[in-house]
Amino acid sequence: MTIDHITGLTCLICGETYAADEVEYVCLKHGNEGILDVRYDYGRIGQEISPATLAANPDPTIWRYKALLPVAPDAIVPPLAVGGTPLYPVPHLAQSLGLEHVWVKDDGREPTASFKDRASAIAVVKAREKDAAVITTASTGNAAAALAGLCASVGQANVIFVPESAPPAKIAQLLAFGSTVLLVQGTYDDAFELCLEAAAEFGWYNRNTAFNPYMSEGKKTVSFEICEQLRWQTPDAIFVSVGDGCIIGGVHKGMKDLLALGWIERMPRIYGVQAAGSNYLAEAWEKGEDVLTKPPIAAHTVADSISAGLPRDRIKAMAAVTETNGAYITVSDDEILAAIPALARGSGVFAEPAGAAAWAGLAKAVERGLVSASDRIVVMNTGSGLKDIKSAMTAVEMAGVTPHRVATDLSSVKKALHL
Ligand SMILES: *Cc1c(COP(=O)(O)O)cnc(C)c1O
Ligand SMILES: [Zn+2]
Repeated sequence: MTIDHITGLTCLICGETYAADEVEYVCLKHGNEGILDVRYDYGRIGQEISPATLAANPDPTIWRYKALLPVAPDAIVPPLAVGGTPLYPVPHLAQSLGLEHVWVKDDGREPTASFKDRASAIAVVKAREKDAAVITTASTGNAAAALAGLCASVGQANVIFVPESAPPAKIAQLLAFGSTVLLVQGTYDDAFELCLEAAAEFGWYNRNTAFNPYMSEGKKTVSFEICEQLRWQTPDAIFVSVGDGCIIGGVHKGMKDLLALGWIERMPRIYGVQAAGSNYLAEAWEKGEDVLTKPPIAAHTVADSISAGLPRDRIKAMAAVTETNGAYITVSDDEILAAIPALARGSGVFAEPAGAAAWAGLAKAVERGLVSASDRIVVMNTGSGLKDIKSAMTAVEMAGVTPHRVATDLSSVKKALHL
């Protein structure tokens, strides 16, 4: 199928541009490393959609930006309400760091409770274009849950590869949504390789992050939403946690789209936050290493969603930071866990470890003088705290918070609360 507003798919290594129907996922010359970027005809798109038409569009979901997405205008989209998540001003939290303007973009509010729904929604539409019998993905858990939920909403069969160490809540989602679940006795990186092999062997539609060029396109919708919610006044800085690098690449892509359309005037600085134990990109950025030759690291972090020994979208992830004058920041597991109750108390947003990591990253950026008090800053929460209750309990215990145990009478309450 040709989609008129797409001009081609460009390899991020060699710059070769393919017609959209000429290539399925990756560059023909560069194989799995040859990640493609979807290119658009912005002149045409600008005639279809504008801030004014958006203001009059009551659809709050990502499909309000359909003209900017890699789907046909008449594509049937899954019914789950993906996108349209709140952008909360958080003055108390901002004050606690000496900042004036901070917002939290809460993607814990997505239908399957993580940011990954933005990409999986696109995967379901693209697989339908091809009449795929099965869609598959590997995932640390959230991309899988997102694909499982979106597939369930349209009755699409799917096969999921997750490391057996994935948090139980995420596995429960997969099973409840009726996916075929393969618990891989290995890391996420192992699950990824296995899934690529299986997809090629069995002809399944492949949703894998970075391999499938359309996933960034779903993820970029968060930038459209942030800018629209801020009435097209670009923030100065955006903080997002990074594992494979697809989300941060998507954030960057969304901003580039808006600049190309002339709807915003400048690019925000993009800050990628990595766990100290999964710091491939931070290390490459600090040392100026080439991510095409840098070998994988052994990744270990409590923030399972950003545990990636070899970030799959590393080219886009590096560009997002270097081209916007941002930075990579690392935070320890203790800092990540401490950020869960800090963010929750200051904003009412309960994040899983990978989501809270972005808040921990902002705190560190303030310490390092990377942001100024008057900067307008958006912190992205990428997943709900309900995804990983075990880590949340560890976090509150570390923060010294315990419930009061009381007998079933008022005097026990008085005693417990020293009233
Ligand atoms: C996937 C995920 C991330 C990181 O996204 P990448 O594209 O892998 O960098 C961060 N937080 C949560 C909750 C996620 O599920
Ligand atoms: Zn190439």
